[in-house]
Amino acid sequence: MSTMKIEDKLAVNKFDIDKDVHIQLKEEACKNCDVHSCLYVCPADCFKLGESDNITFAYEGCLECGSCRIVCDKDAIEWTLPRAGFGICYQYG
Ligand code: SF4
Ligand code: SF4
Repeated sequence: MSTMKIEDKLAVNKFDIDKDVHIQLKEEACKNCDVHSCLYVCPADCFKLGESDNITFAYEGCLECGSCRIVCDKDAIEWTLPRAGFGICYQYG
């Protein structure tokens, strides 16, 4: 049986990126966060830790799973789905 790595599975999906940003972070809350739970749950690696412990976020690869919104204990994520017809289109993954 062949096994696919997560990166390979993600690569078969396609995106029609909504130019209206559907997820935004409240920067002030993130500055005061020392757990950074979002880093560990996002399957698409949308969150990154910067050199000065700042969180950066890129919504374009979002898989719309909602995990980040659930784990953030500071209610710092303004989260909606992309507009109809935009966002992730799952292929085989
Ligand atoms: S989104 Fe939530 S969990 Fe992630 S850094 Fe900001 S406050 Fe912390
Ligand atoms: S909804 Fe899921 S895939 Fe999208 S940014 Fe949050 S954790 Fe990552």
